[in-house]
Amino acid sequence: MKVSSARFVKSAQKPTDFPRNRLQEIAFVGRSNVGKSSLLNSVVNLRGLARISKSPGRTQTINFYLIDDRFYFVDLPGYGYAKVPVKIRDRWRQMVNGYLEDRQQLKLVLLLVDCRIPPTDKDLLMKEWLDYYKIDCTVVLTKADKLSRNRLSQSVQRAQKDLGTDELIPFSAVTGLGRESTLKRIWAAVS
Ligand code: GDP
Repeated sequence: MKVSSARFVKSAQKPTDFPRNRLQEIAFVGRSNVGKSSLLNSVVNLRGLARISKSPGRTQTINFYLIDDRFYFVDLPGYGYAKVPVKIRDRWRQMVNGYLEDRQQLKLVLLLVDCRIPPTDKDLLMKEWLDYYKIDCTVVLTKADKLSRNRLSQSVQRAQKDLGTDELIPFSAVTGLGRESTLKRIWAAVS
């Protein structure tokens, strides 16, 4: 499975900025530094599509990428970076909620969780939000290359239990583990 073309379309700060052509969408969300840019770049096989962030928590926009001229990848701003002021956190909530609450064309959210860190309160809250809005969600456990096989398997079980889902893909942008499964999940959601 392969992405043939991917290009950045726009950054949005509020619902009136979102694309209006009703193409299907796949969104990516997780805490800052979880490996979201690396996953995006790996999945489309294009280095530099999503800038690998050097200042976590700063990207407070929703970024749309057109994939194969057919659907959008939607890069939601990262959450849970401790140093971010309350005002920015409120803005984050408003912006992401504004996107999730009424997006018929949103087919799947990939919720990224670092395999070395048990799901945080914010990850759990995010999952509750998605369940509340009845949005399909697959959890992606990032940076899987950083754990031994045994520890990774423990981490998978823990995340499944905490987040209450069996839909979980261990992923590594370094080794390519989980890349094919992630692409398959995306394709199933937009076909
Ligand atoms: P973002 O803030 O969620 O977009 O995270 P980035 O993609 O910028 O990654 C944050 C840091 O984690 C960077 O230093 C990446 O090189 C590193 N990283 C991301 N994915 C992986 C991975 O699969 N394996 C390893 N070992 N490091 C990763």
